[in-house]
Amino acid sequence: MIFDFHTHANYADGENSATEMVEAAIEKGLSVLGFSEHHPRHPDFRYRNDPSGEVRGLSIWQDYIVEIDLLKKKYKGKIEILKGSEFDWLSREHLAEWKKWRVETDWDYNIGSVHFLGKWGFDYFEDWEVGRQNFQSVEEIYTAYYNSVIEMVESANDLFEIVGHFDLIKKFVKEVPANAAELAFPALDAIAQTDLVLEINSSGWKKDCAEQYPSLEILRAAKERNIPITLDSDAHSKDRIAENFEKSKELAKKVGYEELVVFHQGGEREFVGT
Ligand SMILES: [Zn+2]
Ligand SMILES: [Zn+2]
Repeated sequence: MIFDFHTHANYADGENSATEMVEAAIEKGLSVLGFSEHHPRHPDFRYRNDPSGEVRGLSIWQDYIVEIDLLKKKYKGKIEILKGSEFDWLSREHLAEWKKWRVETDWDYNIGSVHFLGKWGFDYFEDWEVGRQNFQSVEEIYTAYYNSVIEMVESANDLFEIVGHFDLIKKFVKEVPANAAELAFPALDAIAQTDLVLEINSSGWKKDCAEQYPSLEILRAAKERNIPITLDSDAHSKDRIAENFEKSKELAKKVGYEELVVFHQGGEREFVGT
């Protein structure tokens, strides 16, 4: 069974239309395709060079919701389409706004991701280079990042179901701190207190870090804590849907996972064997 819950069409920074994504997913043999468009970010938080930030307006967001609902009907019987979103965790100050967004729409699931530390959008290369100057060491950046993940996880109730690219902070880091996994353990402990699902996100293989999110060591620690996992691609184009999932599955098996979570309409969860 092939599925993918972390995908982006061309509403913000994806390349293909939602229909093109669906057609490609059918061709690849997917049973379930979840869309997780970026929720419009608060305007105070911008990347330095981010035209897509400007177009993530609320009218486009409404178009997205309407289109996914239409596609769900249109492709019924051919592929199960899920309506989700990926939102940027910024700080607890925005909780009220997010709770409203969560209940306004009948989401099948949502993904919570940290892309910003304060006003620093660290996952764009230009921004990384500038923002890192404000920290004494890579360890300090990692700690700040995981503190933000913990804050997000502790506020996750009824907001989201999947933790996006758990160790994204390594994206541009060529020198990974020796204790990179240990720095992540408190955030894993927080996840273990919830029913959140961790994704093995295969997009990292194409980035500077040259490996999936999260690292094998973190994945092993997640298994020790009985944190459920799923497979995601974070595809921003149709050719990358479910990319490298065989590799992801091998890693899951290697650390002892026998089951993966599959989401369905209305957020229902199914467990399938690895
Ligand atoms: Zn993301
Ligand atoms: Zn994404």
